[in-house]
Amino acid sequence: MRIYDISMPICHDMTVYKDREENRPVCEMTRDYPEGARESKICMGMHTGTHVDAPKHMIEGGDGIDALDLRQVVTECRVLDLTYFTGGITQQGLADKDIQLGEFILLKTKNSFEDAFDPEFVYLGESGARFLADKRIKGVGIDALGIERAQPGHQTHITLFKSGITIIEGLRLKNIPEGRYFLSAAPLSVVDADGAPARAVLIDA
Ligand SMILES: [Zn+2]
Repeated sequence: MRIYDISMPICHDMTVYKDREENRPVCEMTRDYPEGARESKICMGMHTGTHVDAPKHMIEGGDGIDALDLRQVVTECRVLDLTYFTGGITQQGLADKDIQLGEFILLKTKNSFEDAFDPEFVYLGESGARFLADKRIKGVGIDALGIERAQPGHQTHITLFKSGITIIEGLRLKNIPEGRYFLSAAPLSVVDADGAPARAVLIDA
C-alpha cells in the first residue's frame, strides 16, 4: 500500500491566498520543558492550507463543517490530469473525462507545479461547475487555494454547494499520476465552522 500526502505543510511562511498577512498561521509556544512539557497553539484561517469548505462558507444558514458526512471525504476518487489548462476549467475541458455519477474528482492542474501564490491560478469555471453538478458527483478537489477566482456572486462555489458537492481546496498533486485512488481528507470537526483544515492523503491499494 502506498500513501501519498497531498496536503500543504502548515507554517507561518506557507503560501496563503492572495499572500494576505492575515491568512498566515501564527504559532506560539505556551509552555516549555522547564515547566514540565512543551505545548503550543496555532491561530490560522479555516481556509488556509489544505481544507474542506462547508456550505456555510457561501450560503447563509448552510451546514457547518461538523455536519459533513465523512463518507463524502473518505472515499474512492479519481485524479484528472488538466495540467495543460490555463484560466478557468470549462465544461468542454471536462467533457471527455467520462465523469460518472457519485465520483469524487480531483483536478490536477499546473498550480501543483508552482509553490508561490499566482493571482492567475487555474480554477473551476462556472460552466465546469455546472457540468459536474449535472453529473451529480460527490465532491471535487483542486490544487488551488480557491476553487474559483474573481467571480462576482461566487457561482462556482454556490453551484457546487447547492448540488451537495463537497469542495476541497489547497491540494498538492504534483507527484500524483492521473488515475483512481482512495482519498482520506477528513476536516477537523469545528462546530458550525465555514470550513476546516484537513490532512489529505491518497492511498494506492
Ligand atoms: Zn475554502
